[in-house]
Amino acid sequence: MIIVMKPGATREQIEAVSERLVELGFKTHPIYGQEKTVIGAIGDKKALSSEAIINLPGVEKIVPIMKPYKLVSRELKETPTLVRVGGVPVGGRGLVVMAGPCAVESEEQLLATAQAVKAAGAQILRGGAFKPRTSPYAFQGLEEEGLKMLSRVREEVGLPFVTEAVDTRDVSLVAEYADAIQIGARNMQNFRLLKEAGATGKPILLKRGLAATVEEWLMAAEYILDSGNANVILCERGIRTFETATRFTLDLAAVAVVKENSHLPVVVDPSHGTGSWRLVLPMARAAVAAGADGLLIEVHPDPARALCDGPQSLHPETFDRLMGELAPVALAVGRGLAPAGSLLVKGSLPAGAAGN
Ligand code: PEP
Ligand code: MN
Repeated sequence: MIIVMKPGATREQIEAVSERLVELGFKTHPIYGQEKTVIGAIGDKKALSSEAIINLPGVEKIVPIMKPYKLVSRELKETPTLVRVGGVPVGGRGLVVMAGPCAVESEEQLLATAQAVKAAGAQILRGGAFKPRTSPYAFQGLEEEGLKMLSRVREEVGLPFVTEAVDTRDVSLVAEYADAIQIGARNMQNFRLLKEAGATGKPILLKRGLAATVEEWLMAAEYILDSGNANVILCERGIRTFETATRFTLDLAAVAVVKENSHLPVVVDPSHGTGSWRLVLPMARAAVAAGADGLLIEVHPDPARALCDGPQSLHPETFDRLMGELAPVALAVGRGLAPAGSLLVKGSLPAGAAGN
């Protein structure tokens, strides 16, 4: 339910309504708008006799939230949510690019990648220290050593970083180091993990499960908001379909669906979404055109030797070219460009002019 307060309702009135809702067994989430305040009330609506609330001073009306997700819905909060990763706002006018290797392999590899992506205009570094791999025999990540490398490289290069937590047992360790915690596609419905990651208060990058509907994805985000953490960035990374020409099917319509139904920022990962570095370029441009707030892109200094996801990783030079190509697309859809990045100054090379 949404309790809409009258314009000019006082803070005391808002607090009194919240207190009454809590007495009736609801969890409350006040959202202070410029004109009006609304209070999200989550709980059993049968417990809410309208008279108990509607007659309280300052209350304008009570509106039910029709969607199964409540806190993430636009019905509750119309204005877009801005999530800060380190100092970088995600979900505003500026397009945010998060880039880096699939996995942290060594300090040299990470540092070289971080320097290159920063020079090309990326604002956030990515890199997995804990890797969810399909095969138990594949490289599983450097774990805490990898987190330490990410932290040292953050100091040296000056980019905040996002990295994955694959298990509840690692959440507090990852939170000690990371600026944002990634929840991977395979863990999107690991509800204990969602709650625990949410409880750290860190921004959460929530990837869409490979077989999850948009509604299931938003319900997963609801778990994080319900844990008291509204700093969620959604990430479309492709879903399983009958199509085999690409690793996954990048569902860009989902970006538009999410934008319509939720106030949370959404970024697109064309690396996992396509599985092929050549396809990353057009799909990154398409994602920006479709309204994504940012991109998550895998970059490796030597993709052929990458321990993980080499075929979909961009060489730094290709990434630089991509950043140039994104600039006119971002402008065309009315997005401001990265403040300190090189998007503003880079000329775009012709698409497909060079190899990876
Ligand atoms: C990743 O970002 O490297 C990753 C493992 O992603 P996903 O969970 O989307 O497969
Ligand atoms: Mn990867």
